[in-house]
Amino acid sequence: MRRLVAAAVGLGLLLGGYARGYPIAEERKLGERFSIEAAGELPLLREPAVVDYVNRLGQRIVSHLEAPQPFPYRFSIVLDARLNAFAVPGGFVYVHSGLLLRVGNEAELAGVLGHEIGHTHAHHIVRQQEKSRLLNYAAIAGLLLSVVQPAIGAAAMGANATAQLKYRREFEQEADYLGVRYMREAGFDPHGMLTFLKRMWDEQRTAPSDQVPPYMLSHPMTDERINHLEAATKSLPARPGWDEPSFALERVQAIVRALTGDRAAVRESYARRGAAGGPGLALHGISLLYQGDARSALAVLDRARRQGVTDLEDDVGLASLRTGDLDRAARVLSERVESAPDDAVAHATLGRVRLAQGDYAAARRELERAAALAPALDDVEYDLGQACGRGGDAGLGLYHLARALEMRGSVEQARAQYDKASRLLEAGSAEASDAKERADALEEISSARVIGR
Ligand SMILES: [Zn+2]
Repeated sequence: MRRLVAAAVGLGLLLGGYARGYPIAEERKLGERFSIEAAGELPLLREPAVVDYVNRLGQRIVSHLEAPQPFPYRFSIVLDARLNAFAVPGGFVYVHSGLLLRVGNEAELAGVLGHEIGHTHAHHIVRQQEKSRLLNYAAIAGLLLSVVQPAIGAAAMGANATAQLKYRREFEQEADYLGVRYMREAGFDPHGMLTFLKRMWDEQRTAPSDQVPPYMLSHPMTDERINHLEAATKSLPARPGWDEPSFALERVQAIVRALTGDRAAVRESYARRGAAGGPGLALHGISLLYQGDARSALAVLDRARRQGVTDLEDDVGLASLRTGDLDRAARVLSERVESAPDDAVAHATLGRVRLAQGDYAAARRELERAAALAPALDDVEYDLGQACGRGGDAGLGLYHLARALEMRGSVEQARAQYDKASRLLEAGSAEASDAKERADALEEISSARVIGR
């Protein structure tokens, strides 16, 4: 504990003294630009239920950082079975879907995110690259891409890029200390960071050298690092039940498996779990839903609810929407947003139901709420564009469509829609000036494209 406090004090000096080198505004711009270009190149998992879950967990940690935050944090999921997580300057954190499937509980996932948030918050990448005079967007973007998605990055920028973004040893330790501190303050058990890293490291030592997870290449592991983490967590009392998987995590893992795994094998394994009834049955229904079999899913989810499993409204609502039962979808989701007004995905799905019912004003209300709660969901912006456009506000419709396209990395298309939107939007409105600003920013990106040329 004393060591943790000492590290925190030392870190305050580091963080405070840092700003002279590379302006925060530049760091933020670099991250934003990277996220837009990368969205067009990386296979991202965009399923709202998964994106929202990871973002909520991440935001829970971020909300305990020292205020005020220099930039908002966003968490994205890359469709890739290899273990990886990486933080891009400016608050953009990328996690591979393979890692989501490998964490055994929320504390382990919080440990990974806390560590990445630590790297970002302490500006490790720009501090590290400053020394090697690589601090221009083109160079950094190529390096980052190679770390987030080794296959694409290596092809685009040359093979040794990953090695250049290997964090220095002292930065790894600093990120560990920071991650442990943030996790604790957010109510997660820091032992999760230790158990996950230990398991990864055991695996790395027995794996052939060409199968080392990308995570270990950029976040080098040492005995020393494990020892420090052990010392930092040893005296902390374990929270009861911290190492059990929560239903929320198992639900997200079932969705990821349904979307990415072998169809027959996933179906069989969840059917087996479902045979025991209760939460296992609910997971079986969820995996059927995300495999595209909404009708069977609905029957299974209803059985699980009759057995007393709660919090399945989002899934029942989505399954009802997909089977065309709009009345039931609207009823279940309305009850859900009543009892859980912060459930962004419920608002988003209810918005889609209202769209399908032709109630554009109600759709817009729900989707605006969803967008405010979960700014990382591009589907919500897209649907909001539909609701505004069909509801008679063409300018706003195009504006939200442009936002969705930008989030999906379609730079040229987004710019064209922002241009059209700004001609239709009320002059002087917040959206009109934002549309103009975004169009200019995207023009800059497309004229000097670095990624995917
Ligand atoms: Zn690290």
